[in-house]
Amino acid sequence: MGENERPNKVLKAGANDEPIVEEVDSDIDKSYQYESEAFNSPILSDEEDRRPKFHEFDDDTDNGEVNFEVGEIFDTMTQFKQALNDMFVFEGKKLEYIKNEKYRVRANCVEEGCPWLILTSWNSQKMYFQVKTYVKEHTCSRNLTSNMASRSWVTSKLVKRLVTQSQLSPKEALEHMKDDYNLHIHYKMISRALKAAREEVIENEKEQFEKVRDYLSELHRSNPGSTAIVDVIPQLESPPMFDKIYISLYAYKRGFKAGCRPLIKLDGCHLKGYFGGHLLSAVAQDANNHFFVIAYAVVDSECTEAWRWLLTLLQEDLGSCTEFGWNFISDQ
Ligand SMILES: [Zn+2]
Repeated sequence: MGENERPNKVLKAGANDEPIVEEVDSDIDKSYQYESEAFNSPILSDEEDRRPKFHEFDDDTDNGEVNFEVGEIFDTMTQFKQALNDMFVFEGKKLEYIKNEKYRVRANCVEEGCPWLILTSWNSQKMYFQVKTYVKEHTCSRNLTSNMASRSWVTSKLVKRLVTQSQLSPKEALEHMKDDYNLHIHYKMISRALKAAREEVIENEKEQFEKVRDYLSELHRSNPGSTAIVDVIPQLESPPMFDKIYISLYAYKRGFKAGCRPLIKLDGCHLKGYFGGHLLSAVAQDANNHFFVIAYAVVDSECTEAWRWLLTLLQEDLGSCTEFGWNFISDQ
């Protein structure tokens, strides 16, 4: 998803060879002319907020709470279609695309006589997708046999769930679908979807570990003066294995010394991902009593050895606690 899903303006040579900029969606059905003119207001300046007064769709919209409105903004057509699909799954209705083009989609409810309708297209002046027409009321009733939830749809929802609940069982997955999407799924389908989701999550996490070195060198490049260290365990016949990582950005260290109380709280918690591990952190409080992160580490287990490693690096970063008078608190 991204720039490659966004169309360019269509350029045509005019009579005097001046290019004429034509809206990609200019041939929109004229029966939908009640769309607001404000959608096509000119861009005033580069500094002008490109998201002025329309509601921008939030990817974190809660399950079953997708609610469209005219003027609503979407970054990509995929984002819009996923939201649309979620809504129809939740409502137990069936969707039909009347027009399904790259930059313009018109969909209605499949039930005959039901007026529900939505039209979303690319706004080439503002460079985003936008709901142009929306008739939100259904006159049809919930169709218990309709099922807009494909296995890949269920899998994508479970991938999201596994991020915070890595030990999700098929039974819990069934309940999640029932509670959050109003959806009754066959046990066989949920087991398969869960297996596929788990494989996807593991693959994603593996890829992230493989990028750790790139991430650290980018941190060093963009935040000079930062400490970002990864320890690995050498392997005989394969690439080295991740052991632990420590990060304290230059701004953390400077901010702590400049404006925080000399009291450092050490804390640790489990990480919920497939590979587990622990997150260790050293935080202080700023003048507004807000938490201020000084350093954090990801380690295999929260043992004395791991804390000693973090505190040694922290002392190198901040200076000796006897010299500067830092105090520590911890519930360990
Ligand atoms: Zn309907």
